[in-house]
Amino acid sequence: MPSYTLPDLPYDFSALEPHLSGEILDLHYNRHHAAYVKGANETLDYLTEARRRQSFSEINQLEKSLAFHISGHLLHSLLWKNLSPAGGGAPNGELGAAIDQHFDSFAAFKAQLTAAAGSLQGSGWGALSWEPLGKRLVIEQVFDHQGNVGIGTLPILVVDMWEHAYYLQYQHRKADWLTSFWKLVDWVDVAERFAKVRVTEIGL
Ligand code: MN
Repeated sequence: MPSYTLPDLPYDFSALEPHLSGEILDLHYNRHHAAYVKGANETLDYLTEARRRQSFSEINQLEKSLAFHISGHLLHSLLWKNLSPAGGGAPNGELGAAIDQHFDSFAAFKAQLTAAAGSLQGSGWGALSWEPLGKRLVIEQVFDHQGNVGIGTLPILVVDMWEHAYYLQYQHRKADWLTSFWKLVDWVDVAERFAKVRVTEIGL
């Protein structure tokens, strides 16, 4: 019984056009996301085997692989939910107020996340996350799937900046992919996530 499974996409592959091509979404979901799910399950199997044999010579690679694949699975599952054919605009309500509080204004928040995502060196993600110790929203620049993030932060909005996420449609024009991303953000979904994570108690 696999621990991780590929979730259903909440829309058709072509649903996010013209902002994101159906070809990209098909490959991204069926090839890339599926590979992270498979990798997470395989790594857990390898760890089980290593534990039973008490043979930990590969432990460093396995722990890194576990973090990479679980994080990749989580980020892609979140990304699909964050996007909608009816997305775009700006948040209001408590999320809108919290963004104003933590980032001065929605425009300033959008500029910071766009800059963090657009200036990544190599593969990674931009993320809006809840930091439960300080009880604040933070923007994170994620390396690969799991690097350069605060321990315990909970992402509520993410943008994939790996080349596979945009290159077939936008080539080197990262800024154009980010412009399209903002037109797809489902603020209702992000606001629902914010309402859940903001009550998280880390117990410190
Ligand atoms: Mn991806």
